[in-house]
Amino acid sequence: MEPNWPPEPKFVPIPQDFHSLESDGLFEKCLKCEVELLTSGSPYLIERVFVQQEPIVEYAMCEGCVLESQGELSAESRQAVTDYMLSNIDVGQRLGRLSEWAEAGGDNAAELMDRCLVSGTPATESREKQIAAWCLGDQMRVDHVFPLMISGVAIEELNGVLSEKTKGWIDDFVGDNFGMPPEFCNNPDFRPVLI
Ligand SMILES: [Zn+2]
Repeated sequence: MEPNWPPEPKFVPIPQDFHSLESDGLFEKCLKCEVELLTSGSPYLIERVFVQQEPIVEYAMCEGCVLESQGELSAESRQAVTDYMLSNIDVGQRLGRLSEWAEAGGDNAAELMDRCLVSGTPATESREKQIAAWCLGDQMRVDHVFPLMISGVAIEELNGVLSEKTKGWIDDFVGDNFGMPPEFCNNPDFRPVLI
């Protein structure tokens, strides 16, 4: 095990994977409060959900709005997601990947998302996937969890631990902000586990 655990987070320029398809560049505003993310000085979360390489949901949200949204989710569901992640993430493997990545120069952060953080499924074999990262200005934070990729299989498993109330909250969030994509209607267990 690395002597300095957890590793110091690194910051790298936000890679293309976390650019907005809609604005064809960096995300500029918080989805909720519309603060200017690149200059506000607040950390912010970017989430993008893909079906067959096509982004169907994407947004950035400032830390304050993330915390506020988390407050609206049931404590039971948040705990269940945390428990699921803790019992499924192979921390040793992730730290190994991180140090290999850093030793190789740490240029291409996309390499850290080539496997599902939970199931280990390669990104190339995942029909659906969800990626998330915390950013500050035009930089992305790299630590022992983020940036992460979760494959469709793990997303479906996570859906299994959510309360009905939380599922309803996510459906409303997606429906209000993006319009409910047909992919969700066709497969009700493929609901992105937002935040
Ligand atoms: Zn905000």
